[in-house]
Amino acid sequence: MFAGRITDVSGPPATSIAQPPEPARFQLRRGAVFACLAVPWAVGLSWLAARAEAVAAPLVVFPLAVGLVLAGLLGLSLRACRLTHVRTAMGVALCAGLLAAAGQHLWAYRSAVVRAQRRQIEAEAEAARQIGRQGRGAVVGIGELLVEPPGSLWEFMQGEARVGRPLWRWRARGPWAWFWWAIDALLLAGAAAWGTRWFARWPYCPRCESWYRTIRAGRLGSDAVAELAAGLGQSVAGPPDSAHVQVISCVGGCGPVLLVVTGPAGRRVWRGWLSPAAAEHVMTRLAGRC
Ligand SMILES: [Zn+2]
Repeated sequence: MFAGRITDVSGPPATSIAQPPEPARFQLRRGAVFACLAVPWAVGLSWLAARAEAVAAPLVVFPLAVGLVLAGLLGLSLRACRLTHVRTAMGVALCAGLLAAAGQHLWAYRSAVVRAQRRQIEAEAEAARQIGRQGRGAVVGIGELLVEPPGSLWEFMQGEARVGRPLWRWRARGPWAWFWWAIDALLLAGAAAWGTRWFARWPYCPRCESWYRTIRAGRLGSDAVAELAAGLGQSVAGPPDSAHVQVISCVGGCGPVLLVVTGPAGRRVWRGWLSPAAAEHVMTRLAGRC
């Protein structure tokens, strides 16, 4: 139950230790609502990412950053629709990530079409000016203005793959460009799914229908940490000089309470579920100190 440096000294499981809340079962309706919310986020973010990519898009970092932003947006949606089934959340996030990756290419294609059309209009205006001044047959220098817009997304992507994309000192062309696009998509979708998992795994109380939140937090010295552990039937091997203690519970206080003790530099010393009685003991101990 406790990860880190605290060991159970009482042999059989201490009565203060409670079972974590049961993992949620598949939730069709909430999953469907979450999926509907994920689509506009993915499409909107892909539009922004396509614009940002035109300015700067560091290799590897850029798709990961886009994926994490998507995870943050999906996390908010997940909280709003109370989805707690982790696999559904991750599956939807993965699909949303792939959609966002594909969306970036689609927006780039749209921009290329608009650019080509704009240049065609400029070329026609230039030709009309020259004809007006010197008569037909005198039109020169508009060849470079005329660019045939890509006929389809597929045609555009093939053209982009032929041109290639810079990859450090190298240029990925043909199949290598496609391969790198696939890596980009996987990085983006992976980051989105991994980030969303964090939100979906956050404890939720189905009884009072609330997400767990920190009800008390503070810093304790090593003696206080050892004393706290002893009160729970646990012992600490070399407690840190100072630890951050967090008591996390649902709004209604219905079920087990999560206790997280973190040492310096974010190192986890202790994480465990406590019975309401044990949580009361911890709260009393923390009352004067935190
Ligand atoms: Zn509750």
